[in-house]
Amino acid sequence: MKEMKYQAYTLHNFRNIKQIARLTPEAREAIEVVGHVLPFKTNNYVVNELIDWTNIPEDPIFTLNFPRAEMLRKSSYNRIKELLDRGAPKAEVVEAANAIRLGLNPNPAGQEHNVPYLGEIRLNGVQHKYRETVLFFPSQGQTCHAYCTFCFRWPQFSSMSGLRFSMKEADLLYKYLKKHPRVTDLLFTGGDPMVMSASVLASYIEPLLSDEFRHIRTIRIGTKSLAYWPYRYLTDADSDEIIRLFERVVASGRNLAIQAHFNHPVELSTEAVETAIRRIRATGAQIRTQTPILRHINDDPDTFSQLWRRQVDLNCIPYYMFIARDTGCRQFFELSLERCWQIYRKAYSQVSGVCRTVRGPSMSATPGKVQLLGVAEAGGEKVFVLRFLQGRNPDWVGRPFFAAYDPRATWFDQLRPAFGGEHFFFENPDKPAGLRIEDMIPFE
Ligand SMILES: *Cc1c(COP(=O)(O)O)cnc(C)c1O
Ligand code: SF4
Repeated sequence: MKEMKYQAYTLHNFRNIKQIARLTPEAREAIEVVGHVLPFKTNNYVVNELIDWTNIPEDPIFTLNFPRAEMLRKSSYNRIKELLDRGAPKAEVVEAANAIRLGLNPNPAGQEHNVPYLGEIRLNGVQHKYRETVLFFPSQGQTCHAYCTFCFRWPQFSSMSGLRFSMKEADLLYKYLKKHPRVTDLLFTGGDPMVMSASVLASYIEPLLSDEFRHIRTIRIGTKSLAYWPYRYLTDADSDEIIRLFERVVASGRNLAIQAHFNHPVELSTEAVETAIRRIRATGAQIRTQTPILRHINDDPDTFSQLWRRQVDLNCIPYYMFIARDTGCRQFFELSLERCWQIYRKAYSQVSGVCRTVRGPSMSATPGKVQLLGVAEAGGEKVFVLRFLQGRNPDWVGRPFFAAYDPRATWFDQLRPAFGGEHFFFENPDKPAGLRIEDMIPFE
């Protein structure tokens, strides 16, 4: 495999991308203006191997990385444009951008409720929402090889203080895990933990392979690197070291699960990604995939059925289809819940059972991961049928429940109980129990 050197493109140097010259002046201006509010980064692999530059601006991967004017409200767009046009001081632009960001729901789904304590110490780089699985945000992994325009983790990349989850000290994490023997899964997430060097990643993972952590059965790594920089596993200076680290995790008798984020079949079409997947799979690691469903990117059943088939061809396991969270430039990407379900159902019906490991469409909402099973009629009323795939309270999982049908609803918090009910089964009638961690069955 030919060696590839990673080259990032951001607001400062994107004009060096030779294909940018083909864009209209308006499209170039939009990158500049919107890029001051939402984090913008792409790289030479995405630009040269994934984007079809004859199909701009509709190309899904272009839209996935490059800001477009429609991603901001008109008034917000004009505000930033006006400041840039008159060469306003940087501080003024940053202040205006921060004001717009705060209006974009920077921390959706009550993620701050998931941060646990060790005695009096708040573990800022950890989230523990579901009994079996702990999320860890290593501080060196809070960036990505490129940024998705829809990303709900965007406060991680913009310099807004107080909104970041990350923790340098792994010692507290280890102490916490020792105290919680029912935790079986540790999920490294970010950002993207695969931006870390092999040695830093190894320094986090290796202590977990000892006997003290026998209860940690699965080490998961949530990553977009296979889509954005497959050379991470091929020709980066420490790619062989990464592969050997993966082999050691498997040799310790644990399951190593790469939770790979893909948005479109194009991301699975290059020789680089195919080879990278083959190398990872040869270590004994599994690759499970997850995909948010997004307007302008993949809102079509054929795209999803191709995506899942291709994943299975490459020995990956389709895992989740997500509905995009209510944050950032959501209005540009959002689809009605009903539409998401129709796309899921049509795509699901086109593939064989080996692809039907995928579950969705699912919303990661405050009380848990809620799957929309579909639209049905019961007792003369049209309803949404839902269930928890994951719940803050494990007892909620797998029970079908009903919400009043709403063709315009785009997120869980817009739904009301069906049949004139006053509250959902998981809500305490006296208080919004679904939102209060102290009302939930505590972890041991
Ligand atoms: C999805 C998710 C997990 C992992 O859930 P699985 O269903 O086991 O993959 C853990 N924590 C949070 C906060 C999540 O959103
Ligand atoms: S790779 Fe993941 S964390 Fe990074 S920008 Fe995309 S969605 Fe966000």
